[in-house]
Amino acid sequence: MSAPLRDQHGRAIEYLRISITDRCNFRCVYCMPEAGLDWLPKQDILSYEEIVDVVRQLAPLGLRRLRITGGEPTIRPDLLTLVRQLKAVEGIEDIALSTNGVKLPAMAADLRAAGLDRVNISADSLRPERIAAIARRNLGFAPIVAVRAAIEADLAPVKLNVVVMRGINDDEVVDFARITLELPVHVRFIELMPVGEMAHLTNEHVVPSDEVLARVATLGPLAPADGPARGNGPATYSRLAGAVGTIGVITPMTHTYCGSCNRVRLTADGRLRTCLYGDHEVNLRDPLRRGEALGPLFRQALAEKPLEHNLLQLKVGGLKALSQVGG
Ligand code: SAM
Ligand code: SF4
Repeated sequence: MSAPLRDQHGRAIEYLRISITDRCNFRCVYCMPEAGLDWLPKQDILSYEEIVDVVRQLAPLGLRRLRITGGEPTIRPDLLTLVRQLKAVEGIEDIALSTNGVKLPAMAADLRAAGLDRVNISADSLRPERIAAIARRNLGFAPIVAVRAAIEADLAPVKLNVVVMRGINDDEVVDFARITLELPVHVRFIELMPVGEMAHLTNEHVVPSDEVLARVATLGPLAPADGPARGNGPATYSRLAGAVGTIGVITPMTHTYCGSCNRVRLTADGRLRTCLYGDHEVNLRDPLRRGEALGPLFRQALAEKPLEHNLLQLKVGGLKALSQVGG
């Protein structure tokens, strides 16, 4: 098996985040406008066969881990087929899913059986009326039900991602942290990023991770902890005394972690983005549809991958929403 390719800064790139749809059943205030976006025409979106073809061509270059994301990936029909086909690609060791969790209780066992390894669930509140207000859709979503379904289906390590927003849900930090005392879940607090409709409000609503951890520590002593065995990413972890789960913080706004970036992203319409922010991307879809080899394009894209994002300058490369690139 080949070693992962390195980018121009020497970082090994072995992780691809694949957005399979730009659509969603939620309209989270920090992500999508309430009226939705201009959805991609169907013919522009990569078919499952095309996605699998991309992965098959990149695996020999050292691609090992995949994340299926969106938009909301569970609303694209026949997701199980995609998972099954990706699992069969030689060299792929780990497949994760990012989801808002609404459909997870119904799908978790089948996803596991199809070959999904693990899941990240996004939930910004534990209170039903507040979830509906933040997501601007009332779908009866209960995060704990989704988390339990994921644990029962062994989609582990289960991560629960919370975007903390001052004055909106920051009073629930302690309630989320308390979940780790009972359940083997990694609760990760994410700093709000300046994308989309709330971009101009970001500074007002960002809660720095140090403040989040100070609030968690009101529950008891917090000790540094190893992250989940699989899927190490940008979070740093700690554990409350006696807890079965851990607390993570992801700090795009107050600390950068670009030096250890190991990932690239594929948009639903087949553009390879080498950084979540910035505007560097390479169209893979058209060459793929012309039957051209993608390896040279991948190598070229990595040779141009930026050293770090320019988020702190509030430049987001024309992104209207993270749903366009899968977060
Ligand atoms: N729909 C799926 C979900 O919500 O997990 C996958 C796509 S969503 C774009 C991926 C992640 O991006 C979610 O955890 C979401 O909370 C996060 N996200 C979206 N917009 C964000 C923002 N402005 N700041 C911080 N995180 C954001
Ligand atoms: Fe949908 Fe996820 Fe964006 Fe919320 S964060 S609107 S669930 S894509």
